[in-house]
Amino acid sequence: MHLVTLGFDDGFLKSNLKIAEIFEKHHLAACFNIIAIGHRPEYVPPDPYQAGPKKGDFKLWNELQARGHEIQPHGYRHANKANLPLGESQALIRDCLALFQAELAGFSPKESVFAFPYSTTTPELEQWLPTEVRAFRAGGTGLNPLPHPQMNRLGTTGFGPGNCDQHLDEHVAKLLAQPSGWLVYTGHGLDDEGWGPLSAGYLDQLLGRLTAIPTVNVLPPGAALRQCQRPANCKCETPPFLFADSVEKEIGTDSFGATVSLHRCKCCGKTWLKYLMEEAHFTKSGRWWRVAVPGEVCASVTAKMARPFIEQQPWCFIGGSYFESTGKLQSSPIKIM
Ligand SMILES: [Zn+2]
Ligand SMILES: [Zn+2]
Repeated sequence: MHLVTLGFDDGFLKSNLKIAEIFEKHHLAACFNIIAIGHRPEYVPPDPYQAGPKKGDFKLWNELQARGHEIQPHGYRHANKANLPLGESQALIRDCLALFQAELAGFSPKESVFAFPYSTTTPELEQWLPTEVRAFRAGGTGLNPLPHPQMNRLGTTGFGPGNCDQHLDEHVAKLLAQPSGWLVYTGHGLDDEGWGPLSAGYLDQLLGRLTAIPTVNVLPPGAALRQCQRPANCKCETPPFLFADSVEKEIGTDSFGATVSLHRCKCCGKTWLKYLMEEAHFTKSGRWWRVAVPGEVCASVTAKMARPFIEQQPWCFIGGSYFESTGKLQSSPIKIM
C-alpha cells in the first residue's frame, strides 16, 4: 500500500483553480495550504515568488472545500518559525487557526494539519503544536510510514526555485520502490507561478499514472489521517449513505433512462458508481445500485457501461423505495431491472 499526498502552498489563485480542475478530472481531492491573511492588503510577501501572482481568498477556499478539496492552514503571515521566540510563534499559530475558524466553513483546529511555512520548526514548537491541531507538516525526506492514529508529524520535501517535476518524479519512484509508505510532497504554483512550480501537464500525467495503480491512494493529509482512524468499515460502506459524505460527479443518462453518477467518499477516498432508476408515474419505483469502482476505472466510466459493469460485480448495495430499503447488500448475480 502506497499513499501520496500533494500539498500546494501559498494560495495562488490561477494555479489553485487549475490544480483543482486537474485533481477533479482524476476524481481526486487536492490540498491547498493557505496563509490566513495572504489575500489581505496588509500581507507583506516574504519573497519575489509570492509578490507577483494574485492570491485567492476565503470565498474561493470555501468553494474549493465544497467541491471536496482540503484547505489547511499555512501560517498567519508566513513567518519562518525557526527564527522566532516560542511565544511569538504560538501566538501567530493561534491567530491563524482563529481566522480559519472564522472564515472557513466547518473548520476545526483539532482536525487540521498545520503546514509550517518553509517547513521549518523548533523542537519546542513540535512538542506543543499537537495539543492544538491533529498534525503538522515539517521538514523531512518526504517519505513517511503509512498513517497511524498516534502520528502527528508529517515530514515533507519539495524543490525550487526552478521547476520541480523531476524532483517529484524521483520521490514517487522512491516511494513505489518501497514495500509501503506515504509520500508527503510540497508544491506551490503551476507552470509560472510561485517558488518551485510544477508543470500542469506533468501533474495531470502523474495523477493518471498513480490512479491506475490499484495499491496507490492519492489523498490530502487530513483524509489520510482520518482513514487510519476510521473503523474497519467506512461510512461509505455502511448504509444509509448520506449525500454530504461524498462528492458527486454526474456521468449522464443511459438508454434505459437511468441516472449514472460517481460518488467519492470524503472520508476514505473510495469511489462508488451509482445507477438510479425512477419512473415518475409510478409510486415506489425509485431504485438504485451502488458498487465500488477501482481507481484505474474511474476516469473511463461512461453512462453506457455502468449497467453491464454493475451486473458483473460480485456484490453491490441496492436501495430505494422500490426495495423498501435505505441500502442493503446484494451478492451476485446482480440483475438491474
Ligand atoms: Zn509558503
Ligand atoms: Zn469511505
